[in-house]
Amino acid sequence: MKFPIYLDYHATTPVDPEVLRTMLPYFTEVFGNAASRNHEYGWTAEGAVEKARAQVANLIGASDKEIIFTSGATESNNLAIQGIAEMYREKGNHIIVSPIEHKAVLDTVEALERKGYKISYAEIDNTGRVKLDKLREMMTDQTILVSIMFANNEVGSINPVAEIGKLCKEKGVFFHTDAVQAVGKVKIDVEAMGIDLLSITAHKIYGPKGVGALYVRRKNPRVRLAPIVHGGGHERGMRSGTLNVAGIVGFGKACEVAGRVMADEMTRISGMRDRLWKAIQNELDEVYLNGHATERLPNNLNVSFAYVEGESLMMAMKELAVSSGSACTSASLEPSYVLKALGVGEDLAHTSIRFSVGRFTTDEEIDYAIQKTISAVKKLRDLSPLYEMAKEGIDLKSVEWTAH
Ligand SMILES: *Cc1c(COP(=O)(O)O)cnc(C)c1O
Repeated sequence: MKFPIYLDYHATTPVDPEVLRTMLPYFTEVFGNAASRNHEYGWTAEGAVEKARAQVANLIGASDKEIIFTSGATESNNLAIQGIAEMYREKGNHIIVSPIEHKAVLDTVEALERKGYKISYAEIDNTGRVKLDKLREMMTDQTILVSIMFANNEVGSINPVAEIGKLCKEKGVFFHTDAVQAVGKVKIDVEAMGIDLLSITAHKIYGPKGVGALYVRRKNPRVRLAPIVHGGGHERGMRSGTLNVAGIVGFGKACEVAGRVMADEMTRISGMRDRLWKAIQNELDEVYLNGHATERLPNNLNVSFAYVEGESLMMAMKELAVSSGSACTSASLEPSYVLKALGVGEDLAHTSIRFSVGRFTTDEEIDYAIQKTISAVKKLRDLSPLYEMAKEGIDLKSVEWTAH
């Protein structure tokens, strides 16, 4: 076993060796610029990019021409939201997002709000899923875009995406979904699900960092976007800049592999995840699952361990690479905004740990993680006067604390 044991596959994944092998020639022998139209070097690079475009499209039921390569999902989210906002400004100025979107969506709509757009935050239930009837009521004749993530990166809850797509179609509103965490784990079909724009990134599906894509629907309806990066007119004018050929080739391969192994891999991964959760439940009291019990990504386990502070728990089990709160906000000691929005109390939010299992996780590693987590929580609770009082039946809320 290699320590620390990596259980943070929501944050990023290692490049699959098969993906790396496919990429390597594109750094050296096959180095052409995919936009060079005058010689073999360019044509070969272009051919490789087009093959990758088809591989990405294939994984989500899109056609090749609907895939725009970007630097990752942060850029894809920005392009989708800003691109629609600018292009359809005459039609309306209202955008709806979920309150537990990734910061790449939340910060983008906040920037638009400062420019005069109106932003509404959809209501979610206590598992993080959007309430459809409330979403319907929020839509006005000014609404131009609904941006709701496919699956949440902290608690793994999966939204009723096909129903949201249907609702948006009825209302004539574009539907964008940040599908970063769902791609390669859940079957996605942009046609059947009524998705108009969809963001993906390679590094969460065993591809390289710094490359991603935005799916942009071409018909029923055709979606037009104002570009945010101007230049040589690459990617049909929607995203200028010399293409990252090696990265794109790796991304395409990662999508091909994901499509091939998904069904078996998700059975295996959810089995390991469930074993971890069952063992935790069997050995510890006062543990709470965050997110949806079943409508959840197969590799996600977000647990609150009452009376144990998350940061202390991470210190006590340094042999495990996990997250407390979100990886992006763990620099601050604010409880996760996602858990807060789900209505998880501040106390429990501070005790949450996110485990995420992946392609290279082994049974042996899960065994170790089970032992380590249980012993660390027990050790910290043994030192906790609050836990002791709670066990003695003292209602902690009734205790009058004196300040020193
Ligand atoms: C990781 C992540 C992103 C950001 O993707 P990058 O390619 O790292 O910019 C966006 N949305 C979600 C849900 C993510 O998990």
